[in-house]
Amino acid sequence: MSEDPAAACLFCRIARGEIPAAIVYQDEHTLAFRDVNPQAPTHVLVIPRTHIPNANAVAAAPPGVWEPVMATAARVAAAEGRGESGYRLTINCGPDAGQSVDHLHVHVLGGRPLAWPPG
Ligand code: AMP
Repeated sequence: MSEDPAAACLFCRIARGEIPAAIVYQDEHTLAFRDVNPQAPTHVLVIPRTHIPNANAVAAAPPGVWEPVMATAARVAAAEGRGESGYRLTINCGPDAGQSVDHLHVHVLGGRPLAWPPG
């Protein structure tokens, strides 16, 4: 069993091209791809290429990991035509939030009214 958490991580494997995904944007630091189970007309996941398990780990992450994720999320929202109509960025962290993949990811949701507060 490998001790490298990135080896078996689903989203690291997508970032390495080992598992197919509907990629909408990528650069040196980030990757954005469509969620396989979309909850809105736009539902894109933005990840850092660096393996970070969740939001708790951001503070201890190397400098320069988080900012590109936010920049990519905004870029994707604009490219999807949601920049003016509005969109939601969501990060689920831990069991109570329903986090199901242990690689930090931002959900970019848009294209329909999004209820607040969330359920
Ligand atoms: P979360 O529940 O916040 O951890 O979000 C994980 C998201 O990953 C869910 O919305 C899933 O639908 C999505 N997902 C799981 N596997 C894949 C995959 N292979 N490609 C794209 N999205 C995926």
